[in-house]
Amino acid sequence: MEKGLIFVISGPAGCGKGTVVGKLREMMPNIGFSVSATTRPPRPGEIDGVNYHFITRGKFTELLEAGEVLEHTEYCGNMYGTLKSEAVRTLNEGRDIILEIEVEGALQIKSMMPDDAVAVMLIAPDPEELERRLRGRGTESDEVIKRRLKRSVEEIGLAENYDYVVINETGKTDECAAKIQGIINAEHLRYQRMKDTVNGYAAGQKI
Ligand code: 5GP
Repeated sequence: MEKGLIFVISGPAGCGKGTVVGKLREMMPNIGFSVSATTRPPRPGEIDGVNYHFITRGKFTELLEAGEVLEHTEYCGNMYGTLKSEAVRTLNEGRDIILEIEVEGALQIKSMMPDDAVAVMLIAPDPEELERRLRGRGTESDEVIKRRLKRSVEEIGLAENYDYVVINETGKTDECAAKIQGIINAEHLRYQRMKDTVNGYAAGQKI
């Protein structure tokens, strides 16, 4: 069975990642999504087990020590991590998985699984738009927004480590999701991933 690939999607806070990924979920229902664990308190409307597994720092440390966390990072004062239990099952079923994670986690995944991980950075069309979107959310304090904006600039500086960069133009979520869908489809058709099929065909097997 063909192995599932890991598509890491990162984007500075406010770049519209959540909306684009939501669109992708509708467009590609067979793709798995991992619900991360975080020590950040839920925002209004966020549901435990759906948006995140909201856990205490003590529980997070426990999971880390038990080797249950695939990658993790501290982001603006809170811990975030991908649980092995969320990711491994999907990949073993031969399905792709999307991880919506920040840059440090993305780099951990890329170095852990260089052949199976593809990293996409999503960026807002310009820094002012990023700030406008972040403030427009209206759920964070000024101090948190400033920290997130600073971190955003740092994250974009690490784009060279990514395989793809996609700009999320305002009002064009569908177009942006379609571009990422194109990347996902194309990645499966890389020669390295088609090699066994090609060799089988050359040996007279039906594809
Ligand atoms: P937020 O607090 O806005 O939901 O997320 C803050 C940042 O943490 C975002 O860039 C988000 O992609 C990232 N993030 C969410 N879950 C994970 C995770 O499991 N691992 C890592 N490394 N980053 C995560």
